[in-house]
Amino acid sequence: MSEYVNVVEIFGENVFNDSVMQARLPKKVYKELKQTMDEGKELSPEIADVVAHEMKEWAIEKGATHYSHWFQPLTGVTAEKHDAFITAPKSDGKILMSFSGKELIKGEPDASSFPSGGLRATFEARGYTAWDCTSPAFVRQDAAGATLCIPTAFCAYTGEALDQKTPLLRSMQAINKEALRLIHLFGNTTSKKVVPSVGAEQEYFLVDAKKFMQRKDLIYTGRTLFGAMPPKGQELDDHYFGTIRQKIAAYMKDVNIELWKMGVSSKTQHNEVAPAQHELAPIYAPANIAVDHNQIVMQTLKRVARKHELKCLLHEKPFAGVNGSGKHDNWSLVTDDGINLLEPGKTPHENVQFLLVLSCIMKAVDIHADLLRESASDVGNDHRLGANEAPPAIISIYLGEQLEDVVEQLVSTGTADHSIKGGKLLTGVRTLPDFAKDATDRNRTSPFAFTGNKFEFRMVGSRDSVAAPNVVLNTIVAEAFKEACDILENAEDFEMAVHDLIKKNCAQHQRIIFNGNGYSEEWVEEAARRGLPNITSMVDAIPTLVTEKSINLFEKFHVFTKAELESRVEVKYETYSKAINVEARAMIDIASKQIIPAVIKYEKSLADAINAIMAAAPVDVSVESDLLKEASDLLKETKEKLSILQKKTEEAVRMAEGAEQAIFYHEEVCPAMAALRKPVDQLEMIVDKDMWPMPSYGDLMFEV
Ligand SMILES: [Mg+2]
Repeated sequence: MSEYVNVVEIFGENVFNDSVMQARLPKKVYKELKQTMDEGKELSPEIADVVAHEMKEWAIEKGATHYSHWFQPLTGVTAEKHDAFITAPKSDGKILMSFSGKELIKGEPDASSFPSGGLRATFEARGYTAWDCTSPAFVRQDAAGATLCIPTAFCAYTGEALDQKTPLLRSMQAINKEALRLIHLFGNTTSKKVVPSVGAEQEYFLVDAKKFMQRKDLIYTGRTLFGAMPPKGQELDDHYFGTIRQKIAAYMKDVNIELWKMGVSSKTQHNEVAPAQHELAPIYAPANIAVDHNQIVMQTLKRVARKHELKCLLHEKPFAGVNGSGKHDNWSLVTDDGINLLEPGKTPHENVQFLLVLSCIMKAVDIHADLLRESASDVGNDHRLGANEAPPAIISIYLGEQLEDVVEQLVSTGTADHSIKGGKLLTGVRTLPDFAKDATDRNRTSPFAFTGNKFEFRMVGSRDSVAAPNVVLNTIVAEAFKEACDILENAEDFEMAVHDLIKKNCAQHQRIIFNGNGYSEEWVEEAARRGLPNITSMVDAIPTLVTEKSINLFEKFHVFTKAELESRVEVKYETYSKAINVEARAMIDIASKQIIPAVIKYEKSLADAINAIMAAAPVDVSVESDLLKEASDLLKETKEKLSILQKKTEEAVRMAEGAEQAIFYHEEVCPAMAALRKPVDQLEMIVDKDMWPMPSYGDLMFEV
């Protein structure tokens, strides 16, 4: 029997949340801190000292010995440096535990070893971490004991963003400002803030830890670089939503407990499509908290796996031939008093606002489809996007039959006066039907789907931070809102102007709507006819960050400066090249030191067997001889392809870092890797299983 878990009691017990602050901070301090959090005011040093002291006392009660500014540099993972709370020993040799306001608000990690894309020369090592007080501090318990983690933004000495968090917070300010303007136009005087609300669904694989350790490719790259398909893959659809096996269930339980303690509202868990694949989804949170929580989720999935003798694979494509992992980014806009701007309204008035919001999102996504695509680009995600797996690399919007029909009517006649679901509707006069209940067809092939009261961006990779896609969504929608407000605030006849604007947005950007099968070849052709970008790889996506259109957009809303965008481009090219280089070298290493020797051993065993059989009796050994010949031919091919990969990789390494090198890796090294894999996977199918130097796909996926 498993032990009883009181979720209500443990939820958030390791979070320095509002109720802890209310209970522990003097009233005046609490009030000022809240103001800082709600209105972005500056925190005075005296107040910071009090907050820091209470935070330390609270953390020590939780067993914490260290604190850490926890941040998200451009490495793709989180970074942290632990400092003990101790002061220098006094004359009696004893120490005190201390933590100042200054230490809470600002950290100074050595920034020289984090990617900066030329923003900061390495000798100017200074970088700052700054407390994001809107994302609560938490205590994490692990082998290091307990650590007070303080979510922070990470900037260069000169103020430029070196992380994921800073632009996200800036984009949240932009969308807040423009969305408030928009709802004020519709007479809303009560809401003080509009926040992007985000829920990130996390997919992952679990494999046996011992088998993982026998696969150098998994160790070095997080994915398998070789591997023949087992007799069974995902074709029977028996894993998706299947009964969760006890070993996995025990793991999920521990993950949930850890997450709940840290205030992450882990809600849904299920088996995913591929064997050994699973999913975890939390409840929505404000974008910056959701981004932090997703990082906590990924760390926790990995950490807890150890305890269960499992390894959690977060790579987008751990195995060829079965589905990879993604991260659906659910996005909506919610006011501080609980109004969801993406909720179709209950009154005609609200309906018009909803249709305006919707038409602005259509416009934003159509104009900046390339940027949205780029925000999901990642080395691992190249194996999914545009590679016959959900979703396609072409950005389109799925609205559902009913809403698409409304848009269609608005475009063709200027009014929407009926609804397919029955019942008459006249925008501005009657209410739209309840779309949330119209869940008849959730188009799984659409990369950007309206699902009742939110959009679901389905391109993001499983390992990636959801910061980048939300930075783009917030900023492009802020732009569309701004342009709408600029017109509507000056309109003489508001009703007429809003009606015209919705119609105009819908008419001009209707091409972005696609409700059909996104996996089909016809859609690729149709999208090309419509002029929609089809960006199939990361190296092709990167330049979209620095088009004139992007620079204008991001500078206008103070989300990125041109220099920051250029630095990110540099970092991304470098990241791509380095990742492929590691994969290529891992392949070379494995093929040379494990696979070729294993095949030779197998050949020798065959040759010995042939000789022994012939010595024993004059029987037909043609099968054995054929096998030997087949293995020998494939070995020859393996060696040839290995030499080509070695040459290509050496050539790539000699190139200067940057776009050209990344493109070379993509166009020359990647195909050479695929070419080497082919004969090796064929060899795996004939070589004696006992002689094959690593666990097979079947061992990894079905014997967890
Ligand atoms: Mg899923």
